[in-house]
Amino acid sequence: MKPQPITFRDGRQVCPLGQGTYQMGRRRKEEVQALRRGIDLGLAVIDTAEMYGTEDLVGEAVRGCRDEAFIVSKVLPGNASYEGAKRACERSLRRLGTDRIDLYLLHWIGHYPFSETVRALVELRQEGKILRWGMSNLDVADMERILSLPHGEDCAANQVLYNLHDRGIEFDLIPWSAGHRIPVMAYTPLGEGRLKDHRVLSRIAQRHGATPTQIMLAWMMRTPDVMPIPKAGSADHVEENARSLAIELTDEDLREIDRAFPPPTHKIRLAGW
Ligand code: NAP
Repeated sequence: MKPQPITFRDGRQVCPLGQGTYQMGRRRKEEVQALRRGIDLGLAVIDTAEMYGTEDLVGEAVRGCRDEAFIVSKVLPGNASYEGAKRACERSLRRLGTDRIDLYLLHWIGHYPFSETVRALVELRQEGKILRWGMSNLDVADMERILSLPHGEDCAANQVLYNLHDRGIEFDLIPWSAGHRIPVMAYTPLGEGRLKDHRVLSRIAQRHGATPTQIMLAWMMRTPDVMPIPKAGSADHVEENARSLAIELTDEDLREIDRAFPPPTHKIRLAGW
């Protein structure tokens, strides 16, 4: 089956391939063009964070096409007190040059209680400043804690590390998220570009007239409601990545991938931040 749209719990659907922006800014003009090309191709989800220093760049990329984009930003744990999260959100809105963030995440667990951060996120949503809120870098036990809070069931997404080298979340977090209809955003889906010459991926890619990068992305999108958000700094890379949406991997492809990158057989602690 070809990749299907991601469906959030409120019914909003987006393309299953998003765009990352971490470490953008050095080739700003080219990167803005790359993000715009992505939006033109339907890659609506653009991922940023107050930490990345790319919110203004994202704001520039969506100028004139804000309604076609779905902006994700994140509050730093150190700013995630009740008051701090509200102020951080205002600053992000200003840098983005927009009146709402489509999805606002807690970047990773800090020292403020979840209850305090979630209270701020719920209110920001009620005020219309964010349309959805979610988490990042949370494993199953912490996601359970979020869901047990007042309004916790509104948690719209969890963004975690996932790629062929780090398949741990397939054991528990992905099935758990599917059971709760919480889409998983997969960060560093290309292993920061390190897997693009892998022998097995190259062989599969050849069969599809594709590239190893496209195979990696198609492989991630084989699972419903899993959305890779590769960072691509050029329009050429964005176009290449977007073509992965048309790839349908065969059972034989998947078996070869499993032999080269074995799936988890037990609980593995969540990797990443
Ligand atoms: P990534 O997307 O796995 O890899 C990015 C690298 O892949 C860049 O060097 C890029 O090069 C290259 N690339 C992209 N498309 C390519 C193509 N078609 N062919 C060859 N190379 C290609 O790594 P990432 O940036 O760490 O992760 C993606 C996004 O996830 C981040 O940008 C960020 O938005 C998010 N993230 C979130 C967290 C979190 O804690 N929530 C942590 C890390 C990352 P070019 O730039 O030259 O295209």
